[in-house]
Amino acid sequence: MFWQWFVRIIAHQYLPFRTAKVRQDFLLRKYMLIFLCIFLLKTENRRTFASGIYIRYNEGYDMKRSLSLFSLVLFFTVCFSSSVWAWGQKGHRIVAQVAYQYMSKRAIKQVDKVLGKHGMVYWSNWPDEIKSDTELHQTSFSGHYQDLPGGLTDEDVLRTLTDYPTHGGNLWRLRDSVLQVLRTHPSDHDALVFLVHLTGDSYCPMHLGHEDDLGGNKVKMRWFGEKTNLHRVWDQNLIESQGYSYTEYAQYLCDKFVAERQPTEEATVEQMVLDTYHLTQLIYSYQNDFDGSTYHYIYRWHTDCERQLYRAGVRLAKILNDLYR
Ligand SMILES: [Zn+2]
Repeated sequence: MFWQWFVRIIAHQYLPFRTAKVRQDFLLRKYMLIFLCIFLLKTENRRTFASGIYIRYNEGYDMKRSLSLFSLVLFFTVCFSSSVWAWGQKGHRIVAQVAYQYMSKRAIKQVDKVLGKHGMVYWSNWPDEIKSDTELHQTSFSGHYQDLPGGLTDEDVLRTLTDYPTHGGNLWRLRDSVLQVLRTHPSDHDALVFLVHLTGDSYCPMHLGHEDDLGGNKVKMRWFGEKTNLHRVWDQNLIESQGYSYTEYAQYLCDKFVAERQPTEEATVEQMVLDTYHLTQLIYSYQNDFDGSTYHYIYRWHTDCERQLYRAGVRLAKILNDLYR
């Protein structure tokens, strides 16, 4: 039925929930929307749609009322859409595409057997897409980030890798458990998809952001005049600013950072986590000096952003080469 489809589309605006409280807020708004949609569209005489707006021809039809309700729905949708995507769709695809460049033939064969040809690219955003979809995956929403306070010593940061923090996210925990599943069940579809996605998330600097600003989501910024926030700048805006497709970007990164491939493969997990954490702190401290120029921001940071994407791809390939040797 049309209204179910319509509600679904709108409900998908509310994908990621970073905390239980935020999630409750979003759910409340979602139910308000569903109520409005049903109110608007629950009629007995449906005939046609024009430009996505439901038009009813029967006598007594109050076009004005329906349109104003429709506008209300639109208003809620636009105002309360969430902005908390991980690397962003393109970022995760880039990570997967870079990984394909460095995977062994055997690993590619095994992975594609489970996910289909080029499946890592096509499935890489699925863990974000299902966040609001099923009961099962409601539990994974906090597994996409591991917020950490600023000013930790290296030892403190590394301790979180084993003594999982009790708040601020579950990225390390979820990633470890996914790896554990794959070691015993290498063909587990969902675990493989999550591994691809969460390896990407681990290298998003703002997924190691501060808990009090929801990983930079509350740090307001402007991007060529448009409203955005620090989290989204790193997950999406910086990547989109270069104008490449995901395949072009992956190829570009493999060319640009070729000299860093070996050191990245040889580094320890701990070193990679510390590097990302230190980068995150630099990004935060730069906010104090930032003059508001988007061009300047891109100039200052796009290489760091690209390095993180590249590293995620190289490390993902390394993990998969080890898993499917
Ligand atoms: Zn994610």
